[in-house]
Amino acid sequence: MLAGKATQTRRWDDKLRWRGSLLGKVTSFLLVAVALAYVSGAVTGWLMLESSQREEWRRQAKTNAQISSSAIRSIYTFVTVDLAPSGQIVRILSSRQIGDDQSVLDTGFIPADVLALASVQTRQPVWLMQFDPTTTQFTVISDSDASGHGIVITDPRRTNNQEPAAGEIFTGFVSIDHQRHFISFLPIETPDGQILGALAASIGTADELLTLRAAFYRNSILIFALIMLATGAAIVFVMHRLFHPVPALIDALKRIARDETGNVTPYRRRTDEIGQLATAIETLREAVVEREHLRQVRETAAQMEHLAHHDALTGLPNRTFLQKSLISALSDSLSDESAINVLLFDLDRFKPVNDTYGHAVGDEVLIMTSKRVLSLLGPDDLLARLGGDEFALIQKVPRHARHHGQRLASRILQAIGRPYHIGDLVLQVGASIGIASAPEHGDNPALLFNNADLALYASKAAGRGMFHVFKAGMTMPGSNRTTLGEELVEALAKEQLEVHYQPIVQVTDGRLTGYEALVRWRHPQRGLVPPGVFIPVAEETGLISDIGRWVMRQACREAASWQTGLTISVNISAREIGQDDLPERIRDALGESGLEPHRLEIELTESLLLEQAGALPAMVAIRAMGVGIAVDDFGTGYATLSYLADLPFTRIKLDRRFISAIETSRDCRSIVTSTIALARELNMATTAEGVETAGQLELLQVFGCQSAQGYYFGKPELQPRLNSLHPVAVIAAAQ
Ligand code: C2E
Ligand code: MG
Ligand code: MG
Repeated sequence: MLAGKATQTRRWDDKLRWRGSLLGKVTSFLLVAVALAYVSGAVTGWLMLESSQREEWRRQAKTNAQISSSAIRSIYTFVTVDLAPSGQIVRILSSRQIGDDQSVLDTGFIPADVLALASVQTRQPVWLMQFDPTTTQFTVISDSDASGHGIVITDPRRTNNQEPAAGEIFTGFVSIDHQRHFISFLPIETPDGQILGALAASIGTADELLTLRAAFYRNSILIFALIMLATGAAIVFVMHRLFHPVPALIDALKRIARDETGNVTPYRRRTDEIGQLATAIETLREAVVEREHLRQVRETAAQMEHLAHHDALTGLPNRTFLQKSLISALSDSLSDESAINVLLFDLDRFKPVNDTYGHAVGDEVLIMTSKRVLSLLGPDDLLARLGGDEFALIQKVPRHARHHGQRLASRILQAIGRPYHIGDLVLQVGASIGIASAPEHGDNPALLFNNADLALYASKAAGRGMFHVFKAGMTMPGSNRTTLGEELVEALAKEQLEVHYQPIVQVTDGRLTGYEALVRWRHPQRGLVPPGVFIPVAEETGLISDIGRWVMRQACREAASWQTGLTISVNISAREIGQDDLPERIRDALGESGLEPHRLEIELTESLLLEQAGALPAMVAIRAMGVGIAVDDFGTGYATLSYLADLPFTRIKLDRRFISAIETSRDCRSIVTSTIALARELNMATTAEGVETAGQLELLQVFGCQSAQGYYFGKPELQPRLNSLHPVAVIAAAQ
């Protein structure tokens, strides 16, 4: 019952929609207009037909009058006729009654024979009538088939109220012998105009004549109705076809308004206005997509900017941010003569906590520490995490820096000294703090950090769990920078450097595509020293060119010995890209080793690009050789993304930081996906760095990253294992 009502309402709604729609209006208008045109055409046609038929009957009747009068004249020689100028007989002239006994005697024919003769020729009945002046009526005295004898009829010219025009005779329907005949009525008069009778010749009865006409009308109405129906159907069909795209285009616009921009607009191929409308909607859709894309790029840039300046675990600002803030705080303090304290602190028993209870507990301790310290800070103070369990703090004070610094430090020690309740665990950690104040202990960030560091060291040396304010004369035992620099010169000469190779594989099927060359220093006492320790020293001392040249030659020579197709990626340092002879050095290494240029790729870190504004000519020269150029550690610089479009990169290497958090952080996931989309748009390949788990790899497969590198596939090794099967191949094979 309810369902029935609902269907009825829907039908009514559809009806209303149809009536209100453009399609409904145009179709209804066309249907009414065409129906009116057809009906008026048909009525006019019928009227014309009717009058031409009447004319035809009249003509026929006149001819029959002519034939009948000729028959009479051929028998009754005393009879003459009166003709109109058109040649039409208008009356028969006779001095006496035709068909009376005397005329029978004279001619030997009875009137019925004469009329029969006429009837043979007209194939219709013919009547001879006598006029009775007293009744002014006509009486049939003879007729061709001897049926109407004695019938009296009134002068049809009067009954029909139709006095014939001059030169015409009466024609029309007259009832004779209970039947209506269409006749010609030819008066018989004496030469002086006295009416004697009349000759009537039929062309058929009304039944005969009108039946034919009725059949014609019936058929024509049927055909007319059929044509109307066919035209109506054609109009509905054509209108529907013409307007059919309109709802789809309205839908397309509504979808765009809802930000659903995935569907391409249909009907753009049409050449009419609908096609133009569809094209305009498609242009709008593309503009919206483009705008959305730009928004995403901006959002990604903002997220990257945030990540570049913040620590992912605690959400605190990182070292970079702290350094920038310290620079501006120092310049502020100079102008308003206020003071600044830099507090450096780290946790005392953090390592054993981490080792005993695991990273999750260690992370929780760091988060709780940051919250406890934050709760002690004023609105202008800034807390940052430098890495591991190291924190730094900038405290802005109007004056008496030392006093305020010491107060804050003791409150921090108290806060961190409170037990940490994590699950069922109750942990006790402490902190050591070093304080340096500006302007008293230094007026630049490097000096302040250094002095705070010395003070921190003093706290640790004095037994931890306390703070020290920097004092002149504080020193750090054995700063190893100078010694490292000196040793590095020797290392090159003694060939203590080694190039290790880390595999890079294709994400979809685990196929090995190449290796990254990573330099190490096999130090006689320190063991294998990572590049992060000695490359900055080499850059400072200028030794980096020699190391870079050596690594490039070594890597090219090694790669040339591999099967063709495998590539080699070589890291280039900030100093090197600024040197004019870099393209030359690469050309030499290629020439010497015989390695095809397209198998070599150089890696430049993002932050490095910013420092080297003049890197473009070298990069262009390197690309011209056919050597690829990758942005290394993408996402760690603080650049706007525009440099990607300006510099000739062939690959983006997504920094390990994003990949390590890809399973846990939505932000990192969205940075990875939008970077991959961006790279695809800029026609660059993508490599994910630092892949350590199957879960990370699976996500990269889903996101469409092309290649990957990380401990999951293999650590950097002196001897690359060229034929090993990488885990991704196992995953791909299992699927
Ligand atoms: P990079 O170019 O981004 O190299 C990747 C670094 O991540 C390597 O560290 C590699 O051992 C490490 N790594 C790779 N997969 C994983 C993983 O799954 N987990 C983790 N935790 N780490 C992974 P490495 O060898 O210590 O190199 C550090 C940086 O030193 C390199 O970063 C590169 O910028 C620089 N470097 C290395 N070799 C050279 C060189 O010959 N010349 C120059 N100028 N710089 C170099
Ligand atoms: Mg690299
Ligand atoms: Mg990297």
